[in-house]
Amino acid sequence: MAKSILCIFSVQFLFLLSSAAAQEFDFFYFVLQWPGAYCDARKACCFPTTGKPDADFGIHGLWPNYNDGTYPSNCDSSNPFESSKISDLVTRMQSEWPTLACPSGDGTAFWTHEWEKHGTCSESVLDQHAYFKSSLDLKDQINALEALTKAGIEPNDETYTLENIKDALKEGTGFTPFVECNRDQSGNSQLYQLYFCVDSSSVSLIDCPIYPRGKCGPQIQFPTF
Ligand code: AMP
Ligand code: AMP
Repeated sequence: MAKSILCIFSVQFLFLLSSAAAQEFDFFYFVLQWPGAYCDARKACCFPTTGKPDADFGIHGLWPNYNDGTYPSNCDSSNPFESSKISDLVTRMQSEWPTLACPSGDGTAFWTHEWEKHGTCSESVLDQHAYFKSSLDLKDQINALEALTKAGIEPNDETYTLENIKDALKEGTGFTPFVECNRDQSGNSQLYQLYFCVDSSSVSLIDCPIYPRGKCGPQIQFPTF
């Protein structure tokens, strides 16, 4: 009798544990950022101490999200960012996940912010090394700039339609991202960030369960960098 009660409790406990893990989040947004738009919109943009980044999309972050559009943040203060855990990735991080904040930095502050705010909320799936490595690999896999340039959409201050931008990315990557725009100082709508959706367990691209809110103007400028 005691044994079977124990057994029922442990089954329930295991069930609770697994449902808690499953509830942690539903999918990721993988957010790429066009540095030319960041720098146009913010008077203060500072190149990293390691030099001007390439004219390419940089990583903003990999953000755990819920299907209803809300998201967890700052989930585990006992698991701070430790650069020693990603020392083998630093060269790639500097080129693919560049900081543009002022004053100039080496990227550590930006990566710390992203890990502590977002990364700690998916630590059951991706430890620190896997979180950053998966992000770098996703950026390489998506190759957003190539998808756009193949369709004649280039960072040359010209304007393009949202439909053309989305079609080019769908053609090149297989998936349609959410396009986030910002406004430069003369009020032009600019291509700022791309939100791709990523499966919570296998780190592969998926169709987005929900898009963030927000709208671009009908004509979107793709600024130089
Ligand atoms: P916002 O003020 O909406 O531009 O968002 C400010 C910050 O909140 C973003 O840079 C993200 O870190 C976070 N954030 C906003 N929306 C989301 C979302 N759907 N998923 C994850 N993080 C988000
Ligand atoms: P999040 O809270 O993840 O949405 O990120 C928003 C924060 O990241 C804000 O404080 C932004 O100023 C900062 N941020 C966004 N892009 C960059 C970048 N390229 N370099 C440094 N900080 C950035």
